[in-house]
Order: sequence, then structure tokens, then C-alpha cells
Amino acid sequence: MESGLSARDRVGVQDFLLLDNYTSEAAFIENLRRRYKENLIYTYIGSVLVSVNPYRELEIYSKQHMERYRGVNFYEISPHIYALADNSYRAVRTERKDQCILISGESGAGKTEASKKVLQYYTTMCPTRNNTQSIRERLLQSTPVLEAFGNAKTLRNDNSSRFGKYMDVQFDYKGAPIGGHILNYLLEKSRVVHQNHGERNFHIFYQLLESGDGALLKRLGLDRTNPQQYHYLVKGNCPRVSSISDKNSWKVVSKAFTVIGFNEEEVEELLKVVASVLHLGNTQFGEDEYGETHLTTEMPIKYVSELLGVEGSYLSEALTHKKIVAKGEEMIGPLSLEQAVSARDALAKAIYGRTFTWLVQKINQSLDEVYYTSKCSSVIGLLDIYGFEVFQNNSFEQFCINYCNEKLQQLFIELTLKSEQEEYEAEGIGWETVEYFNNKIICDLVEEKFKGIIAILDEECLRPGDACDLTFLEKLEDRLGGHAHFVTHKLANGKIRKAVGREEFRLLHYAGEVNYNINGFLDKNNDLLYRNLKEVMCQSSNQIMKECFQTDELTDQRRPETAATQFKLSLAKLMDILMSKQPSYIRCIKPNDAKQPGRFEEVLVRHQVKYLGLMENLRVRRAGFAYRRSFEAFLQRYKPLCPDTWPNWQGKLSDGVSTLVKHLDYKAEEYKLGRSKIFIRFPKTLFLTEDALELKK
Ligand code: ADP
Ligand code: MG
Repeated sequence: MESGLSARDRVGVQDFLLLDNYTSEAAFIENLRRRYKENLIYTYIGSVLVSVNPYRELEIYSKQHMERYRGVNFYEISPHIYALADNSYRAVRTERKDQCILISGESGAGKTEASKKVLQYYTTMCPTRNNTQSIRERLLQSTPVLEAFGNAKTLRNDNSSRFGKYMDVQFDYKGAPIGGHILNYLLEKSRVVHQNHGERNFHIFYQLLESGDGALLKRLGLDRTNPQQYHYLVKGNCPRVSSISDKNSWKVVSKAFTVIGFNEEEVEELLKVVASVLHLGNTQFGEDEYGETHLTTEMPIKYVSELLGVEGSYLSEALTHKKIVAKGEEMIGPLSLEQAVSARDALAKAIYGRTFTWLVQKINQSLDEVYYTSKCSSVIGLLDIYGFEVFQNNSFEQFCINYCNEKLQQLFIELTLKSEQEEYEAEGIGWETVEYFNNKIICDLVEEKFKGIIAILDEECLRPGDACDLTFLEKLEDRLGGHAHFVTHKLANGKIRKAVGREEFRLLHYAGEVNYNINGFLDKNNDLLYRNLKEVMCQSSNQIMKECFQTDELTDQRRPETAATQFKLSLAKLMDILMSKQPSYIRCIKPNDAKQPGRFEEVLVRHQVKYLGLMENLRVRRAGFAYRRSFEAFLQRYKPLCPDTWPNWQGKLSDGVSTLVKHLDYKAEEYKLGRSKIFIRFPKTLFLTEDALELKK
């Protein structure tokens, strides 16, 4: 044990608002480190929960723990995710106000685990009505299914979510969970056809191959003895992950399918789709002596056509030719070898991506139907979405993800500052302005109509002729060259900026600078699937494909939205949903890259503290009032501390509070009395009062 330190010093402060030197980043990180060493992974910044990934199972998630946190205030007990979950739940019960819990942090920081813990808290602690048991099970079991299809091993996280997820849990007027709804965002489809070294494809492929029973695999034309034969699975050269048991997961997923309400046939149809993607990946092409592209493999296409119920020759033709409509006439043109390969990959990505969306819809139906007649009173939304990403090489995906984080930061500014201001006004307390960086300028830079980066990208995607990634970059330079948050390698004085490559642009995000490589931006944004491949898929007799590929897509003359625009629209909707709710925040931090317990790497943590805007967060909270409580609640809790208020105060509540704080010797600058609440500026004040109460007991 460290000598000369009191218990509180040794374990640090449980709320950063209590730090003496609250502007010091070093003190902030030291506090996190001390607590982490003691396995205290949770710390508050006021009502924001900061969580550091322990990378080990802690004994703090039992039902007894859940019970301990029911109905208590943050500062009465050590910080915990259950306290935050309970707090939101109480607001739903008592105020009937919709809540949302926003979880952020980089890959592997513990966002998904956090969202599971919150969901577990609700499904365990909330009252049941009739047989809401089944809805609880469905809510819980939706996770393993989506994880099997949407998660994969990456270098950063063995179980990395490759999609964004927003889930509403619906409660009735008695506070029983009665349903749910999931929205999914931007699945990383490119993983279906390619994985970086040391990474894997989505879990479901390995689970099926490893554990699907023999007869099933035979029907799917799969062979488990040699998983290395599937081209879509070998790019990362990483068939197994020590921390993952594909066998166990398969069992869990199979059971989850049943709970959610899939019948055997539906599961089989789904697995046929999964298998067909693997066979598609094994389809190979070659060039004949005239330079014409043709298929060099027979079996894979046979399987695909069987599993999906499409005409094999028709599919082969569509993989090697494209249909062009010119002057009202349809023409068939051959594809080059390279084009055929990318057409095949585009088809695999489309099949998998659409199936994922279908799966989410299917789960939603199941979460909807149980209590479909009973009235939903309020909801708690859980957002588990990709954090800010900066890699060595950043592409279209990082651009979208970081844009998403700008939007969430914008929301944070609007919601926290706005709600803070509204409360001070309602209570008649003077509002003090706090300086903070408003990142709206960066959101506009990305999304503004006609002028923003997405608009320019779409313009290039639509422009016939010589449009390519480089012309896109030139246009960006032309139009955005003078913008304070946009730079390229060209400096204003004609010199070259070495830190940005010739095929890159750099955005100055609120969380830091990121260089984006423009290669592939146009293709990824177009996300094109040739028309004749769509036609083939529209004829599929597979029930899932039938729902995923419908003929109105072929007759619709409008151009489909580009990927970036779709993402922008879905984010705008998400912002509307979140804006209508009261937010709580969980900020997750990853202590090391080795995924090991007990290792706290300062440099890494400092980066995240910066990206997550935690210091700014703390500053804003400190500038206002740290705590507020209704007169009634305050009196009720602390009345034993003053002879005049004990055992009961008879007069006006505000007078009672006034008497009490005078007796406690609160200084004028420490607090203010509003119309119905007491506002306490410094957390220390409240903690001393709490200590006094503790002594009294
Ligand atoms: P993210 O969703 O932020 O990418 P995850 O939630 O998937 O990260 O966490 C990555 C891994 O870290 C998990 O698979 C688990 O092993 C570990 N982990 C995260 N949070 C906890 C926790 N509270 N307790 C124990 N292990 C955790
Ligand atoms: Mg995750």
C-alpha cells in the first residue's frame, strides 16, 4: 500500500469536479490512473460517466450490485454504470421524459460492453408485467445475432462492432420494458471481400463452418475440413482468435434465433445466403485469347445459383458483362477481368449488406409484436456508435465515422449547454457564459448543401466523363481552399505542405487533425451494383433475397442516393431523435493497445481524453453549478444535520433549506437558491455535507 495517502487520495476522486486543479490534464490522467490501479474503472464528470476498459472480468455486475444502485444518487455511492442506468430509468418513471444514453470512445474502449450492461440492468431490475419475460429475452438475444453478423476481429478489438447501433427500449407507464426498436448505421461491407492482415471477416462465417452440423453444411455445399479454401476468409490470415470460441457463439446464436422467433426454414434461408457469399468469393475469372473475360470455375456458381434460386447461366453472364442503356437501347458490353472481379465483390457486399439490414428489420418486428397493443409511455435510447478514428491511412469510412463524431459533439454542445441554460433561466438564476469551441463550422464544411464536401463528392460521382478521385480533390481545393478547417498539400504561398500527401486532404476536426486519402472515395460513394446483377437477384427464389432485391428498384428512374448522402440523411434523423430526449453520457477509454488488464498507458489515454473533449467537458461543468437538487430532496436527505430542521421542517421548503445551509456554514459563493431547487457550485461542498451525514449515522 502507498504510505502517507488517505484512502480517498489513494483511490483518487470519484468525480473529476472534485479535483483541486481541474484545468490540469496531468491531474486528470493521474486520477484515472490511480483509480484504474485499484480496479475502479468508473469516474464521473458531474453526470457524465468515464469508464476505462479493465480487460478483465470484475465482480461488480451481480444482481446484488444492481440492487445497491437502485434509487440512489450519484454522490451517495461509488460511481457505476448502474447508477447512470438507474438515473435515466428514474427520470422515465417520475418525469415521463424520454432518455438517451450516448456511449462514445474508440474501438475497443468498451462501448458495446457498456451498452450490454445497461440493457442487462433494465431487463433484470425493471418490473415485469404479464409475461414481459419474453420481451426481456428478445431484447437481450438481439445482441448475439447482430454481433454474429455485424462484428469481427480487428487489430483493435477481437469483437469489434462494424456497424453503428441505436436501440430504443420502450417502457409502459408502470416502468416495465414492453418493446424495442433498433436502427443500424453504415455496416463496413468491404470486410466481406477483404480483410487486413490479422483481421477476420464477420464472425458468422467462421461460426457456421466450425459448428454447423454435417448435414447442414452438406446442403450448403460447405466443407469445414479446409476453411482456408474460401477466398473471402483468408485475406487476413487469421482463421482463429484465442479469445473467441466460434463453437460456443454458434450455440448462443442458434438459441437466440429461436428466442427472436425465427423458424427453422428462415434460419436455413439465412444460412444459404451466408454460404452463397463464400461460394461467390471462390468464383474466379480468366481471359481468353481474344481478351474476353470468362469464368474459370464451375462449382462455386453452381452452388450460388442453387442456394439463392437464380439461373446459373444468367448469373455467369451478369458477372462478366454489363448492360448499358444508351439512347433507349439496351446494349451488352463485356467486362474486363478487373471489372468482373469488382462486380463479383460488389454483388457479395450488396447481398451481405442488405441481409444485415433485413436482419435488423426482422428483429424489430419481433421486438414490436409482443406488446404491440399496450401503450408505450417512454423510451430510453442506447447509442453505441463508432468513435473518432485516426489510422495511418484514412479513407471514406473514417471520413464518415469522424463526421458522425462531429455531429455527436454538436449535439453534446446543444444539449448540455442548452439544457443547462434553460434550467438556470427557469429557476431564475443568473447564467454565465462559458467559452467553448463550437464545431458547427466543421459540420457545415462536411454537410452543407451545394458547398460541403459531401455535396462536392456527389457532384463528381454524377458527372459523366473524366471524373475521378483526383478531380474530386482538385474541386475540393478550388472551393474549400480558404476554409479554416480544410487543407491540402498546397500552401497559399505556392509552397508544399509536407505533412499532407498529394492524394490527401486534411480536416481539422474538433478532436484533432486527420489526413484522408482520396483513393476509392468515388467508388465507395457510388456503391454501384450493375443493373444486370440486380436483375438476376430480383429473380431469386430465396425468401430473404426476395425481400432485399425488389423489382421497383429496377424501374425506378431516380438515381439512388450515394453512400455519403444516405449516411448524412440517416445521421440527421438520428440527431432529431436524440434532440428530443434527455441525454446521459458514457465516455469509454482504452488503457492499452495490447488488450491486457492492469496496463495504463498514459500517452494513449491522453489522446483519448483529448478526443473525447473531457477537459472541456469538465471546464464547462465547473463554470456552472456542479449539483442541483429540489428543496424537498435536499431537506429530506440532510435534515438530520441541523436541530432546526430535524425531525421535520414545518415552514416553507425554501426557508428550511436556507436554515439548513446556514447552519452548515455554506458560504454565499458556494450556492444559490432558485425557485424550486438549490444549486451548489462546488462538488466539495456537497461531499463535505455527505461526510457529515456519514459521521452522524
Ligand atoms: P468497443 O465496442 O468500444 O469497440 P467492446 O465493448 O467490444 O469495445 O470491448 C472490447 C473488449 O474489452 C471486450 O470484448 C471485453 O473483452 C473487454 N471489456 C470491455 N468492457 C469491459 C468490462 N466492463 N469488463 C470486462 N471487460 C470489458
Ligand atoms: Mg463495439
